Amino acid sequence: PRPGHGKKHLPYEKLQALLLDTPSAEKASEWSKYYTSGPHLAGKNLSQAEWTRDRWEEWGVRSDVVAYDSYLNYPLDRRLALLEKGPAGTGQHADIWKVAFEATLTEDVLDEDPTTGLEDSIPTFHGYSASGNVTGSFVYVNYGTFWDFEDLLRVNVSLEGKIAIARYGGIFRGLKLKRAEELGMIGCILYSDPGDDGDITEEKGHKPYPDGPARNPSSVQRGSVEYLSMGPGDPTTPGYPSKPGVPRQPVDGILPKIPSLPISYAEALPILKALNGHGPQAKNINEYWTKNVGLGYKGVEYNIGPSPDHVVLNLVSEQNYTITPMWDVIGIINGTIPDEVVVVGNHRDAWIAGGAGDPNSGSSVLNEVIRSFGQALDQGWKPLRTIVFASWDGEEYGLVGSTEWVEEYLPWISKANVAYINVDVGVRSPTFSASAAPLLHNLLYEVTALVPSPNQTVQGQTVRDLWNGHISTMGSGSDFTAFQDYAGVPSLDMGFGGPDDKAPVYHYHSNYDSYWWQSVYGDPGFVYHKAMAQVLGLTVAKLADTPLLALNATTYAVALKEYVEKVESKLTDSGAAPTSEAEIFEFRARSTEVEVKGDRDAFGRSLDRLYKSISEMKSAAVKLDARAAKLAEEANEHIPWWHWIKKLKLLHHIRSTNTKYKNIERAFLYSGGLDGRPWFKHVVFAPGLWTGYAGAVFPGLVESIDNKDFTNAIKWVDIIDKCIQTATKTMQ
Ligand code: GLU
Ligand code: CA
Ligand code: ZN
Ligand code: ZN
Repeated sequence: PRPGHGKKHLPYEKLQALLLDTPSAEKASEWSKYYTSGPHLAGKNLSQAEWTRDRWEEWGVRSDVVAYDSYLNYPLDRRLALLEKGPAGTGQHADIWKVAFEATLTEDVLDEDPTTGLEDSIPTFHGYSASGNVTGSFVYVNYGTFWDFEDLLRVNVSLEGKIAIARYGGIFRGLKLKRAEELGMIGCILYSDPGDDGDITEEKGHKPYPDGPARNPSSVQRGSVEYLSMGPGDPTTPGYPSKPGVPRQPVDGILPKIPSLPISYAEALPILKALNGHGPQAKNINEYWTKNVGLGYKGVEYNIGPSPDHVVLNLVSEQNYTITPMWDVIGIINGTIPDEVVVVGNHRDAWIAGGAGDPNSGSSVLNEVIRSFGQALDQGWKPLRTIVFASWDGEEYGLVGSTEWVEEYLPWISKANVAYINVDVGVRSPTFSASAAPLLHNLLYEVTALVPSPNQTVQGQTVRDLWNGHISTMGSGSDFTAFQDYAGVPSLDMGFGGPDDKAPVYHYHSNYDSYWWQSVYGDPGFVYHKAMAQVLGLTVAKLADTPLLALNATTYAVALKEYVEKVESKLTDSGAAPTSEAEIFEFRARSTEVEVKGDRDAFGRSLDRLYKSISEMKSAAVKLDARAAKLAEEANEHIPWWHWIKKLKLLHHIRSTNTKYKNIERAFLYSGGLDGRPWFKHVVFAPGLWTGYAGAVFPGLVESIDNKDFTNAIKWVDIIDKCIQTATKTMQ
């Protein structure tokens, strides 16, 4: 038997104290060092999976490595070159192409930062990139958002047969390629513009990494370019797990057909400069095109092009596509209530040898949380609810490890999973940020107020005190997606990784997201790692071990009303300038004409039904929350054993109340899924169709309005109305 076996239940206050006291900055640093000491790309990290399992077992958590056979690519060959010949009719080298610039497609090796020089370091490439060898003139497409391409169509820049050069940022990178491909472009290169690095740039006087906090000019953002249209996961097995031997679907329309490469700004410079003087300038398009451009001081005039016929790019991307096992590590602490389960996860795979921010700050934090719960187990603790810990593989390619696991255990997850808590980049700046289902908002405010901030310039201040309290809606971009959008499990994603214009530049998906960067610039002393472990531990504890489920229903009803108001304001949108970064990418009106379908006013009126249903839901929610609060109080009172009937009754009431909470989020699943994206089942939350990361609320409504299809919009009002009514019934 384990030490402490047979001891009394650990009081909740003791558990909380233990989860605050156990996490250690030194240990987090040790785990970070381990995970970031060499390549651990998806499907190539079995030793780290086994090591993780062994640690968790050592700490007293029963753990297994589970495999999924997944379809993905590894890079074989790459090339990017700028080719020139004499302009037609001038007689200058008229027929001989000269290599004006050959990109190295590598990041500099830095003496200070040992993992930048590993022999087996991972090339710069795109996950799920197409193989291809294309040559053509090229066009600067700004961020490459849907709206940027609309602008290009409007000013008649020719795109067909051209190669796109886009800067990273704003939306998920795969969607940039998707739109480029739809418009007949033949390839795409993506670069990191320092203009998007806030105040910490070389231009503004900061030294680049490793000497200072600015971006290293050679840094490259790798990353997946899947098209997200079928949802995340193994693209060949949408909706079912990638077990050995399962049938596989064609990847047509899900993965890019045009080749692409990521490059650094140092290597983008000669390409962008070759456009100087060709085609319109970005500043003549509109303000979105000059926002954050950062290479003007290097001589880039941000002309759009296309480049003249005698100045072309040759882009080569040769990929080896294969089906290979990926390994999730799943640990479990059994609770006493069999059908109430909390899942907490982080991915382990990284694009680079390092990954000290993405994802292994989260991995280190998760380890500290598990080690802390292990201490509680040693003292005889057994949670009320079962806790499942997950170290996912294949997140980077498309949330593969988590999605396949959810697809495999969907029946059990639907029945039992009360919440999913995700930590991806656990730490990369001091700024706390979170996105969450409304059911979980209050919980997050409560636990962040219990954790001291590492910043004690004001004595006693907590993580909550220093956080602006903004909680984003659930979009996509990490492993919560299958839980929230496919299984209807209220989910939460958090980390010290908020946008911060003053923080050292984070080298996302680059070799410089390393242990050395983290210990010198990101989180010296790993103190934010410790704080993150405390926040995560308390969040999980509260969900798993308080008699009443720590979910709040009223918050959901209140949020739904705000979301309908947002939809309504979109309907009456006069084309006013967007007010937030998110809106810039989400809400800009189409410049090309779309034919109006259906009755716009009838749709506007139909929203009244939603307001009415939401107000009924709110009444039910307020009642349910009040009842839960009362039961929570009673559960705290001591009931002598001879009042066992009273006690049994109380337990029965608690259980039926918890079941109601558990089922609220499920009510918002629609089995038909979203228009054109049937894998996405949630009617309230989805990644924006053309944002990928940022969430859209009521995607069915928003997309119908974008397409001016009010008949379809009314169809969605019906679907959403039914879901709200089901949620209300669930609560009564
Ligand atoms: N987090 C990864 C990225 O942003 C994967 C996201 C996805 O494929 O959905 O590149
Ligand atoms: Ca699948
Ligand atoms: Zn990540
Ligand atoms: Zn990542």
